[in-house]
Amino acid sequence: MDLNAQLRLEACLISHAHLDHIRDLATIADNRCQAECEPLIVGATAPTIRTLKKHFFNNLIWPDFSEIPSKANPTVRFVELKHEKPTTIAGYVVRSVAVQHTIDSSGFIVQGDDATIAYSGDTGPTDRLWELLRKEPNLKALLMEVSFPNREQKLATVSGHHTPRTLIKDLKKFGKPEDLPTLLYHIKPVFQAEVEQECAKLKRVNLAVMALDEEFVL
Ligand SMILES: [Zn+2]
Ligand SMILES: [Zn+2]
Repeated sequence: MDLNAQLRLEACLISHAHLDHIRDLATIADNRCQAECEPLIVGATAPTIRTLKKHFFNNLIWPDFSEIPSKANPTVRFVELKHEKPTTIAGYVVRSVAVQHTIDSSGFIVQGDDATIAYSGDTGPTDRLWELLRKEPNLKALLMEVSFPNREQKLATVSGHHTPRTLIKDLKKFGKPEDLPTLLYHIKPVFQAEVEQECAKLKRVNLAVMALDEEFVL
């Protein structure tokens, strides 16, 4: 995001505390602090918030922007999400769902007035997310992780990620995955072409690969 987009941001949802999912909060918080923005709402589960406070915004790695410039009017305001409990954030009803990763990780179901989207977070094979998505009446899209090609299945399994082979198994838990626009992200750059080729061979699905700077309007 350019500086203007960073300053306009109202809220973000953090799936888990791995660095690839949190590192930009450092720059965004710093920039917003100097621009005297409203507090940035950061929605996450209690374990993720704990890790962010202890290991990231800890006044060693980076200042504790949840107390800067003041506790009453901070740069970052954490909002704790309890799994599957609807919480209103920036005008959307958000639910976190526990998924399967190496540390506490959540997917999110985000409901607006006209549409609902879901985001898988970092996850390997899981059941509950699909159970909930099957019941969503207005689900327009799923942002779905896939990280490694099939030949790296062992690595995918120990690191809590999908290959195209496990992705298709999980998509079938939705019932009719061809009816669900599924936007793939988190493909490891070294394997980008291989993963895309393997995904292109999957049948009765509705897949597209997300690109950097794409925007989606709900
Ligand atoms: Zn991760
Ligand atoms: Zn990740």
